[in-house]
Amino acid sequence: MSEIVVIGAGPAGLMAALSASESGHHVTVLEAADAVGGMAGSFEVAGQRVDFGSHRLHPATPPEYLDHLRALLGDDLQTRVRRGRIRLQGRWVGFPLRFLDTARNLPPAFALRIGLDTVLGPLRSPRGDSFQATVAARLGPTVACEFYAPYARKLYGIDAAELTGELADRRVPMRSPLQVMAKARRARRPEGQRFFYPRRGYGQICERLSEAAVEAGVDLRLSQRVERLAERGERIEAMSAGTVVAADSVLSTMPLPALVAALDPPPLAEVTEAVGRLRVRAMTFVYLVVPRDQYTPFNTHYFPEAGMFTSRLSEPKNYRSGDDPNGQTVLCAELPCDKGDEIWTASTGDLEALVIEELRQVGLPDPTPIATETRRLASVYPVYDRAGRTARAIVDRWAAEQDRVITLGRQGLGVLDNLHHMLAMGSAAASAIGPDGSLDRARWRRSLRQFAAHVVED
Ligand SMILES: Cc1cc2nc3c(=O)[nH]c(=O)nc-3n(C[C@H](O)[C@H](O)[C@H](O)COP(=O)(O)OP(=O)(O)OC[C@H]3O[C@@H](n4cnc5c(N)ncnc54)[C@H](O)[C@@H]3O)c2cc1C
Repeated sequence: MSEIVVIGAGPAGLMAALSASESGHHVTVLEAADAVGGMAGSFEVAGQRVDFGSHRLHPATPPEYLDHLRALLGDDLQTRVRRGRIRLQGRWVGFPLRFLDTARNLPPAFALRIGLDTVLGPLRSPRGDSFQATVAARLGPTVACEFYAPYARKLYGIDAAELTGELADRRVPMRSPLQVMAKARRARRPEGQRFFYPRRGYGQICERLSEAAVEAGVDLRLSQRVERLAERGERIEAMSAGTVVAADSVLSTMPLPALVAALDPPPLAEVTEAVGRLRVRAMTFVYLVVPRDQYTPFNTHYFPEAGMFTSRLSEPKNYRSGDDPNGQTVLCAELPCDKGDEIWTASTGDLEALVIEELRQVGLPDPTPIATETRRLASVYPVYDRAGRTARAIVDRWAAEQDRVITLGRQGLGVLDNLHHMLAMGSAAASAIGPDGSLDRARWRRSLRQFAAHVVED
């Protein structure tokens, strides 16, 4: 029986492990954390299950994966109605945008400018290959400057003019204001406002996937951070503190820089240097335990404005009908940052004060908490900066050529994809393993081309 090692028990790794095991391989999963789920995991704050920021299973999930998750989660996978708001021009507008609501709630001059942009749309073409230029050409300068550019600056830490047009293709697929309106019309219908969410938090998806994987024979080992991957003739050894697992092939979802640093022999200097030039944004999550049943009826508030550190606020209790404690609710504020910067290194007390102040300033209810916790993820948003385009091309070429290692997943491929994309990647990676445990590179390259068409859903 061939031996496969999967690195990481997030959605991509777990799906890869389950699929490979069902295809008859012996699979060992090595996960650095003491729990499964990765950035799609859940954990408890003050006795309530919370996620790493706002997570929902999008209705765009292909039926085969949705059916699979339904079979795993049963009635725990609930169908919920989206309730989001975005702050534009100092006012609240429903999000996803709905035409009448937007026209009613935005200042008339602003709505008029959007109307003009719509009329002039066919005359515009992008002035250069940047995120800013592409979005401005497609949706008009008003929406680009007031919403997309400041939000992108907040998430990725650089000016929207320094980000690539490719990011716009992946994040803002609408090609014209008319398509935005069509989307807004769809959003008015009940099915356009649905999403799926598990009763016990988003992490329940990975928890059930991992149970299914173990039932299928996968050897799941937690608290095993892989630090070295050494080629030994036709085999490869994955080493973590105190453990060595030999395999025919490795499917890795660990961050690319860590993978490259672990490889023995190392890749060519050109590849190591290129990986060193890939930029990635971190995220600090601030959880406020507020002593009231509900803070607002909304799932999510979005804050594109530049003057705030918080990019999004979610209230996990509103995502589900579950067994959450009465008399309290937990809010999660997402603060995009760079590893080591003032937000990343701020104390819990300082972050609590900052978030409270920001929420008060936008007119939300007093969030004074009875307790506050913070979490940090170092690698959340890959930055599609124009300066890093060559580096990304070098890394992508290298990743497609490996004999014994497939790198996949959000951090393994440096993409912004959703969980349903991760499930597709995991099962495609498992399908690229032959019966003897060797990798079918041509097949994997075809899958990589398909992943390039993934559109990230909000
Ligand atoms: C703020 C935020 C909001 C999001 N919202 C949504 C949403 O609404 N809907 C949606 O579908 N998706 C959403 N996503 C995306 C979703 O979370 C990711 O697509 C998904 O979690 C990525 O899965 P993955 O398995 O590739 O990586 P990860 O979830 O990052 O898992 C990688 C795993 O590898 C482990 N690992 C790393 N290094 C090592 C090592 N050296 N050895 C062993 N193990 C290692 C990590 O501990 C981790 O468990 C969101 C993401 C973020 C950050």
